[in-house]
Amino acid sequence: MIYDLIIAGAGPAGLSAGIYAGRYMLKTLIIEKAQDGGQISQTAEIENYPGLRTDMEESGLTLTERMTEQVKRFGAERALDEIVSYELDGDIKRLTGLSGKVYEARAVILAMGAHYRSIGCKNEDRFRGMGISFCATCDANFFRGLEVYVVGGGDSALEEAMYLTKFARKVTVIHRRDELRAARSIQEKAFANDKLHFIWDSVVDEACGEDVLNAIVIKNVKTGELTRLEADKADGMMGLFGFLGMIPNTEKLEGTGLELENGYIKADESTRTNLGGVFAAGDIRTKELRQVVTACADGAVAAFQAERYLADKA
Ligand code: NAP
Repeated sequence: MIYDLIIAGAGPAGLSAGIYAGRYMLKTLIIEKAQDGGQISQTAEIENYPGLRTDMEESGLTLTERMTEQVKRFGAERALDEIVSYELDGDIKRLTGLSGKVYEARAVILAMGAHYRSIGCKNEDRFRGMGISFCATCDANFFRGLEVYVVGGGDSALEEAMYLTKFARKVTVIHRRDELRAARSIQEKAFANDKLHFIWDSVVDEACGEDVLNAIVIKNVKTGELTRLEADKADGMMGLFGFLGMIPNTEKLEGTGLELENGYIKADESTRTNLGGVFAAGDIRTKELRQVVTACADGAVAAFQAERYLADKA
């Protein structure tokens, strides 16, 4: 069976592409290796996606469930498999799964997303969503009036730290060196911000607390000294945001002829890549704002572009 379209990944970008591909009556297969939703399947609360339900607690999972149901109504087929190799340069694209199955289509939308580089401290997984976050736009509001720590020294860490100062009482950037990686112009703005503080030459060694994060242990990488930083008693909790760079899930795309930039698939708002019939949607492509709403928009655009490509080829 040769599909019109294969969508790799069932996060918000892939699922949105599935809805649009269904509306365009394309014979579509969506391949996902784990549960639907990608990064948002681990997001406890989402409040910045338009049209969210307020009569129930909306999590990444509940939002994804409704997206998955919606895709089903538009008839895309599903496969649970991990793609281990891609052949993308011919008229027929071939994707091989870990199961050994070979999936074929005339067009492909790559929507496998990206993952955040973890902080690498003890108990990180335990406090993810309970004080530890990797998205200020998503979670800043939960830390109103509290003390927040930010790990990283790049553009993202500083920009997000400055954004967090609008919500948090005090924001402290913890960086592993004594010099920031961020652009000079961003550094200047950050140093001029009264609510922003810096701890140099340090990494987070441990996250602590009962149910929520209420202390961290940091380690000075030059002296090895450990320091425990506790949340104010009245606050009862603190925030720890990691901005140590993102890792796009493009490892298996190297050597396929697809153009990458800093690991991301090079594609603009049209989602078109350098290879005919291959489109990139969501966090996996070069873009500035990686959010559910922009991933969904990409999915719609990619399906539209795929339909156009297939019509031109017919
Ligand atoms: P990044 O530039 O790769 O910076 C990652 C930061 O995390 C670095 O300071 C790095 O420290 C630190 N880090 C990495 N691994 C670590 C570890 N294991 N432990 C402790 N610290 C660690 O990532 P980014 O800030 O997300 O930016 C990604 C790209 O997007 C960059 O090209 C950036 O310029 C761009 N960007 C641009 C803007 C803008 O122009 N407005 C905004 C955001 C992002 P070291 O410095 O010691 O390596």
